[in-house]
Amino acid sequence: MSNNILEKYPEYEATIGIEVHVQLNTKSKIFCCCPNQVNKKPNHNVCPICAGYPGVLPVLNKEVVNNAILIGLATHSDIASESTFARKHYFYPDLPKNYQITQDDKPICKDGSVTILDEKGEKKTIRLTRIHMEEDAGKNIHSPKTNESFVDLNRTGTPLLEVVTYPDISTAEEARSYLKALRNIVLHLGIGTANMEDGAFRADTNISVRKKGESKLGTRTELKNINSFKFIVDATNYEIERQINVLKQGEKVSQETRSWDTKKKVTSVMRSKEEAADYRYFQEPDLPILEISQSWIDTIKKEIPELPEQKFERLTKTCCLSAYEAQILIDDRELAAYFDEAHTHYQSDNLINWILRNLISYLKELKQDNSELEISSCKIQPKQLAELVQLIDKGTINTKVAQEIFEEIAQTGKNPSDIVKEKGLEQIDSKEELEKIATTIISQNPKQVEAYKAGNERLFGFFIGQAMKASQGKANPKKLNELFKKHLDK
Ligand code: ZN
Ligand code: MN
Repeated sequence: MSNNILEKYPEYEATIGIEVHVQLNTKSKIFCCCPNQVNKKPNHNVCPICAGYPGVLPVLNKEVVNNAILIGLATHSDIASESTFARKHYFYPDLPKNYQITQDDKPICKDGSVTILDEKGEKKTIRLTRIHMEEDAGKNIHSPKTNESFVDLNRTGTPLLEVVTYPDISTAEEARSYLKALRNIVLHLGIGTANMEDGAFRADTNISVRKKGESKLGTRTELKNINSFKFIVDATNYEIERQINVLKQGEKVSQETRSWDTKKKVTSVMRSKEEAADYRYFQEPDLPILEISQSWIDTIKKEIPELPEQKFERLTKTCCLSAYEAQILIDDRELAAYFDEAHTHYQSDNLINWILRNLISYLKELKQDNSELEISSCKIQPKQLAELVQLIDKGTINTKVAQEIFEEIAQTGKNPSDIVKEKGLEQIDSKEELEKIATTIISQNPKQVEAYKAGNERLFGFFIGQAMKASQGKANPKKLNELFKKHLDK
């Protein structure tokens, strides 16, 4: 089934823009020296600055600026030589100052872009309006049991980068694709965990629909804090369909913030949308204008590692992987590092097959739960897998034996060539030896030979099976095939 609900409503189109809050993994918070870490004891990582005492002064953490420049460069953004901070006013118990320090009209990054693959597998550019720095709020914790509410300020002052797109996204799948691409950039830069479940990568999605051909955009709703890639597709599709049905009934979509109920699989109203003016933005008087020189940008530029886009090019062009294979490696950096190392030892098309089939299914067996696969817990080193594939390619062993050796390496960590020597597993390749095996099997099974020649072709597998058994699985299966054909098919 297609994941695109719009196929059901060909006369409508959707316009989607996404705001993502990326939590940074700097050592300290954005405006004070408190550790930027999870602390299970509530209100422990706090000081007068992040607890919002009157009269204290924020000091900007330079590492946050470095990270903002990094992601700006990685998304082809313009880095502003001057940017400013602003106060965004609102009241909420987890925001003790009653305003958030953020950036308003002069953000650090503008006009960037992220490339995604659309539903046809073609490249599509999603433009970014801006990326800005801001502080996170604390957390309100509600206990329905005791009917009490608590405030934990450990998270206040956690550095965030807010990445905002133009409404360039057209389907739920594209929304997911964009989030994956952005998340991969964050992970490749190493500036955050980008863990969606923990709230370290939070997406707010603005969605509107209109009849095709209309020039004016429809009224949008905002979906708050979707915390998984599956939910983003389900919630976006649901919201698109809900809005289309509202329009079809001749009613108006109302501008509001909605949330996704993961159990009932519906969106519901959280609150009607505040206007931007409600926040009474004004420039933060306690922080100077942030000036960024070209030499500062150039220094950061040197720190940029290989990014997903370049990795894709390298894996598909230099390493000859398919787009599908390359994408799997981009989504899993440990697996990519594993491939890269194995690839330095031995280059073969077979290598990626062994990684994506045998190695991954082995790792899945290791893991009973649904947590991410850990390659580090696997005894098979990249060099050993490369050697194993080389032994297959050279014809030293056949794939059946290779699978046994693979399992033995996983158990013992021994080198494949040592296992081959120890157990005498070299493939039987010599024509004379194979000929001997084949003729023996034929002479030992006259009835089957007769039946085969009479037309029971399925017996061919029987002969191969007998010969493999006689050779303890070591015979070259391809050559055996040819020999039996030669002897039996005349
Ligand atoms: Zn603090
Ligand atoms: Mn924000």
